[in-house]
Amino acid sequence: MPRLSGVTPSGHIHLGNHLGAVARWAAERAPDDLFFISDMHAMTVSYRPSTLRTLTRESFAVLVAAGIDTDSVFVQSDLAGELGALNWVLECTCSYGEAARMIQFKEKAGEQQSVRLGLLTYPALMAADILLQGATEVPVGSDQDQHVELARTLARRFNSEYGEVFAVPRATVAPTAARILDLSDPTRKMAKSAGSSVGVVQVLDEPDLVRRKVRRAVTDDLGTVRYAPDDQPGVSNLLEILGACRATTPYGLAAEYSSYGALKEATAEAVIEHLRPVRERTKELLADPDELDRSRARGATRAADRAQPRLSAALRLAGLR
Ligand code: ATP
Ligand code: MG
Repeated sequence: MPRLSGVTPSGHIHLGNHLGAVARWAAERAPDDLFFISDMHAMTVSYRPSTLRTLTRESFAVLVAAGIDTDSVFVQSDLAGELGALNWVLECTCSYGEAARMIQFKEKAGEQQSVRLGLLTYPALMAADILLQGATEVPVGSDQDQHVELARTLARRFNSEYGEVFAVPRATVAPTAARILDLSDPTRKMAKSAGSSVGVVQVLDEPDLVRRKVRRAVTDDLGTVRYAPDDQPGVSNLLEILGACRATTPYGLAAEYSSYGALKEATAEAVIEHLRPVRERTKELLADPDELDRSRARGATRAADRAQPRLSAALRLAGLR
């Protein structure tokens, strides 16, 4: 059951990415799994090339530091040729309506004056990422469910129209920490694109900064520690985070705390300890750029080798070449 999942270097990797995605990938990894830094996906909105390059490097280091084997991590653009080819095939398998219906597209497009075409077609490239590697499982946060569903549809459609070549993938959503919320605004998810928000804890934040951000987390005026995401989203989010760091469920934890202050202290310390080894290892890796480049090349070779036969078959079946 090969798994594939990625993280977009649209900002620094944060606690939501870590608990909902990266830490799980590392904990459950199998030899066939592949994880990647989706730098091409970061181009769907305005960005700076030099920042993208730096964040790609940093994100790659974080994944390795979190415990994913170096030959199981690659950078998307190292396969730009293969992905570009399959992307076109899949764009021509997908309808305009299917792409325009994506919630993420509607949300992100709504915030902008000028919408890049790539923001609309992004799910086709994501489907290419998945189908090219023959992934059957795609571990994602709940925000990516719909995109994996589309990849599924496109795989089936291509297979039945042109011939069997793609494995049909399915999304697996984390049972816990699938949607960590922004600490300063618990009505929205913690996101890289929120930039330097005080509600976003970054994996590389120094302990004191983590402490300050958690202490300032928005709660409510009910005054009781309960796990009730609808009524008490801020408090429930803290319980969710604490539970994920301690590998336990948020329900049981609620009874252990009688004040918001105590819950915040416990959460801050748990987050700091959870992130410490990743932060320290990432710094070491970034200090040795040559070794990092060699790791990146190894991952790219492995991913490209795995992709090649499937890409050739798909192009042939589509009537190309
Ligand atoms: P962006 O704002 O640029 O979309 P992001 O924070 O949503 O960034 P992605 O790169 O889109 O991060 O997602 C990487 C992985 O992290 C995906 O599996 C996604 O589902 C998961 N993820 C993202 N945000 C959260 C969150 N707040 N809680 C849990 N998982 C998350
Ligand atoms: Mg996202």
